[in-house]
Amino acid sequence: MKTQVDKFSEYKMIADHLPFGVTAQDLKGRLIYANAAAAKIMGFTTTTALLSAGASEILSKFVIYDEHGNLFPYENLPGRLVLKNKKQEEAIMRFKKNHTKKEYWSRVVSTPLLKKSGEVKVVLNIFYDYTSYQKEKEAYVLLKEHENTLRLALETGNMGIWDWDIQSDVFTWSDGLQPSYGLRKGNRQGTLRDFLQHIHPQDRKRTRRSIMNTLKTLKPYEQEFRIRWPNGKNHWMYKKGEVLLDNNAKPSRMIGVGMNITKRKMAEEALIQSEQKLKSMFNASLDAMVVVDSHMHIHDANIAAVKLFSTSRGSLLNVSLLSLVRHEDKKNFTAIWKKFMKTGFVRNEMTITDKNGTVLTLDYSGKAGFLPHTHLLVFRDITGRIKEEERREHLLGLASHELRTPLASIKAFIEILKRTLKEQHNEKIDHYLAKIDDKTDIVTRLINDLLDVARIRDNRFEFYYEHFEFDPFFDDLLKDIQVTVTTHTFVKSGNTGISITADKYRLSQVITNIVKNAIRYSPNANRIIISVERKNRRILISVQDFGIGIARKDLKKIFHLFYKADIENRKQVFGIGAGLYIAKNIVESHGGTIWAESIPSKGSTFYISLPINSKPNKSMRLSKKLI
Ligand code: ADP
Repeated sequence: MKTQVDKFSEYKMIADHLPFGVTAQDLKGRLIYANAAAAKIMGFTTTTALLSAGASEILSKFVIYDEHGNLFPYENLPGRLVLKNKKQEEAIMRFKKNHTKKEYWSRVVSTPLLKKSGEVKVVLNIFYDYTSYQKEKEAYVLLKEHENTLRLALETGNMGIWDWDIQSDVFTWSDGLQPSYGLRKGNRQGTLRDFLQHIHPQDRKRTRRSIMNTLKTLKPYEQEFRIRWPNGKNHWMYKKGEVLLDNNAKPSRMIGVGMNITKRKMAEEALIQSEQKLKSMFNASLDAMVVVDSHMHIHDANIAAVKLFSTSRGSLLNVSLLSLVRHEDKKNFTAIWKKFMKTGFVRNEMTITDKNGTVLTLDYSGKAGFLPHTHLLVFRDITGRIKEEERREHLLGLASHELRTPLASIKAFIEILKRTLKEQHNEKIDHYLAKIDDKTDIVTRLINDLLDVARIRDNRFEFYYEHFEFDPFFDDLLKDIQVTVTTHTFVKSGNTGISITADKYRLSQVITNIVKNAIRYSPNANRIIISVERKNRRILISVQDFGIGIARKDLKKIFHLFYKADIENRKQVFGIGAGLYIAKNIVESHGGTIWAESIPSKGSTFYISLPINSKPNKSMRLSKKLI
């Protein structure tokens, strides 16, 4: 039979090995027993050390807080309450060791051991370790917080969570996922079949297969598929997820996020369509087009470009555009390219040698930044056109020579005849001779006009600029015209007092044309008022007549080629409607402007404004295109 002592030491031995702290206090609160775990909790290495320490020494080792973070009131320690209330008391306490960050959470249960008389003999305290539980609780709170944040983030991104419990086949849609399916918010559950039911019939099999495959491979799941909304409309969904395994490493759940990507899909489709459109336009174009980067490397070329520059598309890609330019043009092309990179636009000509060794002239234009960091260049082979222009020019030269030479001879013979017949004073002959002379002048003017028009249209209207004093030039010119005119007198006013830079011959042509028109279109008047003045850096010439005038609707059109205002008595006036067109081209090539003001039946005034220093204007080809 075991003695009392034996029994006690047996209990003590068991208590010493318990994983939680055990202490016993006498009525005065002194520790009379502590096991190893209790000593450790209180910060002592041995139980003896703990037992020999006084209450104040023990308490000085740490600060005690309650579970809300407030200091634990000494009088509320469960051990003390037990003495007062004589019943079991418990509390959750946080022991924070002084000068360290170490914490220890404990659920302390204090039980009174009562004498037979009912008085308290000893107080037994048990310290359950609460630290890990508390930590788990905190982690759980944190997890909840994170989950809420995640939920919020998903909802703002129009996303939701889905969860499929594989074994029980329960498919759960989070409330945030419902609007993506055209449904009201709220958690919903069903089976995988229910989920598949929402999917567009044509995508259903594919989606099922993909899910099953994920279960087999355990790889992350990701898929786009169409769904059908209750209103019958199709939408696009994007789903991503992964498989969770159970303890036996078997797939137990699939969980992930989903979002409605219809808008993105539509934008993508629109983009693809417009890209395809652009691509087919690119390829169908008869003009050669290449897409190059800023270093002239060719990134793309259409069929026409391949035909023009090489034998295959492959041999064009990644080649430098400069390598296609003829050696003689390379320097010029590089300089133009630099400008193009600055201004973003280019229009010029260059030459290349084609696969048969023929030199081709290309007209090209470019727009920088067609796509990010790439530029579009469009080329057109104008070799044929240039040849045609040259041929025409040659023909024109020939024709003008062939026509003008006999005309000059006719004029010379008229002069001879006039002189020979002078003595005879035959009025009839004089009259006929004057008529022939006039008609010859008209034909000469007509031929000259036609030649000029042809030159303008072929961009071969050339100018010879010189610097000269304007006033004597103008006065001499008016005098020369006046000699040939018997019907009208010129009343001239004003002077400029300056020299100008211009093509003298072409300028006289313009002024002669305007003055002669003034005479021709004012058959019943006898004066032409001409004025000239200097206005800042320009000269302003005006020619006023008192003739038939020009209707308001015709004021601009009279400068168009072959345009003749609708006038009565057309028989009286000659011309093909080219004079003012030529005049406008000449004036504008000098950087000037020409216009007319008129009151029908009262007369017209033509104005020419010219810059003092005309710069040769190279945009003749463009003004030609305005015709
Ligand atoms: P045209 O050889 O027919 O005179 P122009 O080009 O010189 O050709 O003139 C075009 C048209 O402008 C003329 O046909 C005429 O109708 C009108 N026009 C030109 N000058 C005058 C003017 N001073 N008064 C009235 N009409 C004019």
